[in-house]
Order: sequence, then structure tokens, then C-alpha cells
Amino acid sequence: MSDIESFIRRLPKAELHLHLEGTVTPATLVELSRRHDAAPITLPEAEALYHFTDFNGFLLAFKAVSERLLTPADYELAAWRMAQRLAEQGVMHAEVYISVGVIYHWRNPDPDCFDPIFAGLERARLRAEIELNLTLYWILDAVRHFPLDETEKVFHKAAQLHASHPSVVGIGLGGDERRCGSEPFRAMYARAKEAGLRLTNHAGETTPPQAIWEALSIGSERLGHALSAIDDPQLMDHLKVRGTPLELNPTSNVRTGVCPSFAAHPLRRYFEAGLLVTINSDDPAFFGSALASEYLLAHTEQGFSRDELRELAANSIRASFLPDVTKRSWLSQITEAH
Ligand SMILES: [Zn+2]
Repeated sequence: MSDIESFIRRLPKAELHLHLEGTVTPATLVELSRRHDAAPITLPEAEALYHFTDFNGFLLAFKAVSERLLTPADYELAAWRMAQRLAEQGVMHAEVYISVGVIYHWRNPDPDCFDPIFAGLERARLRAEIELNLTLYWILDAVRHFPLDETEKVFHKAAQLHASHPSVVGIGLGGDERRCGSEPFRAMYARAKEAGLRLTNHAGETTPPQAIWEALSIGSERLGHALSAIDDPQLMDHLKVRGTPLELNPTSNVRTGVCPSFAAHPLRRYFEAGLLVTINSDDPAFFGSALASEYLLAHTEQGFSRDELRELAANSIRASFLPDVTKRSWLSQITEAH
């Protein structure tokens, strides 16, 4: 491991844009397939599935994983493996999207079907806290292009769980932005806020800046991707003045073809403009990304110095939904990391 890699490993950092389903590796997929399929898929087959070259291939891989994440034990296994990989990279806190919208749409429309799954996730979370010194928060994610009443169920479930489990910290919206913006969710976001949930939103990944304005207008606090903000100087100013945290995912954007290369990603320009940027891995098993390698690529492809990497790590704490007292403690440890 090079000097810079071990520095990145030692730097305490948070991952804020990570989909549990997207952390399932080919090996874990084979293990899940053995549990559920009459003719389980082999490791070479699973690996081939992950070697997609376009967005459709990505969707097929995502579906193959989702179809085999069925029982509470499956979710517990996936979350535990995810936690182990995060801890190996020096991640001390992660806020993880769980695609509850997919569960309701593809598997079971009963809102309470998520409760036993959530119990499995919580077992993994508590184990990670004790054995790995890693804290996890959950963000329940809906799919924007599925029927509105399904999103309503996801957000309602989030509010219900949040009341008894502070680990359910917020809600999010993923899915196809080109088919559905943010406006239809205005009232649902207002209710989620009233329930004490934090509001995230995927915006401007495959859509123009207008989609980001729209996401902000319904109260989204933290934005996923925000790739197209670079095309709108007024929006850049607005994001800076408001200090809106951005969950950037450079490697993901390269792999899905919305950005030509890591070097061309607006990360550096956002950072220099004073935006509150964080880097994240999104769906690491699918994109061959990992939080530590995003930091390394920021160094090799965009010339981020050690101090600038330290600033990115500090941003990940500032942009997190951790309590202020915990933030202060991590921020001082980041200052001391060498
Ligand atoms: Zn995402």
C-alpha cells in the first residue's frame, strides 16, 4: 500500500451515498442464490452479470440481486458484509439507502412486510457497532417512477420506524429522473420533515439543472449526484450560499456513461467553488468503486492534496446526519490524522 493509500485508510470518513443492494458482491450473490434458486448461479455467471457495459446491463444486475435478497437473514448477511468492507477502508459511519420501494413494488405490497427485514438490518447494524466500531444509519429509499401511493407507503414506514428507531434517519428518492421529477413528492416531503426525518434526493444525475432546482424547492436537504449543477452558475451560487451538501459519485457517473472520465467530473470545480462536496461509492459492487478508491482517484485524477482529501473527509462528517457532538469529535480526529 502506498503512502497516500495508507493515509486515506487512516483518515476517519463517512460514506453518505451507498445503496445496500449495490454492495452485494458476485460471491455474496452466489451465496444468496444457493439459498433460493433450484439451479444456483455460479461465480463466473455472477461475475459476467456484473461486467455490464451500459445502463440496461446495470439494471439487469441490480434486478438479479434484488430478486435474491428475500429474507431477513439475506438482508442481515448483505448488511454485515457491507459493514466489513466499509470498516476495512477506515469508514467509521455510513448512511445507507435501503430500496424499500423495490420491495413493495416487486415483491410484497404489504407495508409491514418490511418490519422483519428491518429487524435483520438492525442485527447487522448493532454487530457492526460492537465488532467494527462502525455506526450505520438507514435511509429508506423510494423509486420516483413507481406509483405515488407506493412512495407514500415507503415514507410512512420510515416515519413509523423513526419514532422508535433513531437509526432510521431519513428518506430518499431514486429511480429514473427522466421519467419523474420532484414536484409530485412535495406534500410527502413536508410530512416526512414533520415526522423528524431528514430529506435526501437523487437530482441532476441524468437531468439538467432544473431538476436540482426542483429538488431544492420541495425541501431536499442533501442531493445525490447533482452532476448538472456545473451547467448553471446561478445554481452553483445558490448551493454555496445555502451550504447544501452534495453526495457526489464520480466512478458511478463514469460507469453509467453520464460523465466521460473521473478527471472530467466536476468534483474539483465544485470543491474550488466552495460547495459542500462529499465523494461516495453509490453501488460499489456494480461499479468496481469503493470509498477509499474514490479518495485515491481524487488524488491521482484531480490532484487533491492530502489536506484537500482531509477536507473531503471533514465534509463527509459535516454533511452527515450525525449529532453535532459526534461530528465535533470526528472532525478533531480528522485534523489530527497524518
Ligand atoms: Zn444512488
